[in-house]
Amino acid sequence: MELIINNLSKTYPNGVKALNGVSLTIPQGMFGLLGPNGAGKSTLMRTIATLQEADSGSIQLDGIDVLHDKQAVRERLGYLPQDFGLYPRINAETMLDHIAQMKGIGNKSERKEVVASLLNRVNLFKDRKKALGTYSGGMRQRFGIAQALVGNPSLIIVDEPTAGLDPSERNRFYNLLSEIGENTIVILSTHIVEDVNTLCSNMAIICTGEVLMQGTPKEGLALVNGKIYQKTIEKSELDHYRKDFHVISTKLISGKLSLRIESESDPGNGFEPAAADLEDVYFSFISKKVDPITI
Ligand code: ADP
Repeated sequence: MELIINNLSKTYPNGVKALNGVSLTIPQGMFGLLGPNGAGKSTLMRTIATLQEADSGSIQLDGIDVLHDKQAVRERLGYLPQDFGLYPRINAETMLDHIAQMKGIGNKSERKEVVASLLNRVNLFKDRKKALGTYSGGMRQRFGIAQALVGNPSLIIVDEPTAGLDPSERNRFYNLLSEIGENTIVILSTHIVEDVNTLCSNMAIICTGEVLMQGTPKEGLALVNGKIYQKTIEKSELDHYRKDFHVISTKLISGKLSLRIESESDPGNGFEPAAADLEDVYFSFISKKVDPITI
């Protein structure tokens, strides 16, 4: 099973080019779509989920023409959107039962079984009678996954799912997603590099509507390995360093600035070689498109 996106473009009526010739091949497993806010991730996710139209290009899911045969896609799709609304007074069990009914599971006892199994899977069975409005952020997201899983989808799209989760909730959510990724295509759109690092076997970096890199995280790392150097400087010195070096990221640590630069050769000047991580890969590509200090 494969999702193939070919030369997809979309310009909004206000003139913003949100997708600019996007081509991606997305295999089974967890696929991380990484990009800063405004990169075009949600536009791409909504287009794959048949919720909005592209101007040009094509998307194929196992021989289905996604842009034209929307119903066939919807039957195979589970979607957890970024702004996932819940009916606050309804409990999880009733809501899932309702969604299962809408997805065509007409038989009441079959539905009961499906709902119980999903609630167990996302570890919400004991909270099934609680109103959704009382759920924590992590519980909401796990419920979001449960509703996306109704009907055994072969393509699951989750848009910025870990924003606002605390570290333990995030871990639980990671475990849940990696289980699901074993036999479906899961596209995880995020601006959090750690999400992709932890979960994804394949990834792409997008920015200003363009694909800047696609491959495995390991292939990404190979592109910057041996080119990352680090130095701790005073905040006031940053502008000076930015003039002379390709600064890819800065981090404030105890009032001082830890600066990471990319350089083909040893830059001297007190810089130390640093082991590259996925964040370096991300910032290396993004910094060629937008100012990394403002990301
Ligand atoms: P991301 O999900 O990566 O943050 P989006 O797809 O939401 O990116 O947005 C890509 C660009 O398109 C941004 O510049 C955004 O402001 C713009 N955009 C998104 N939706 C609309 C819309 N409905 N009308 C006009 N511009 C939009």
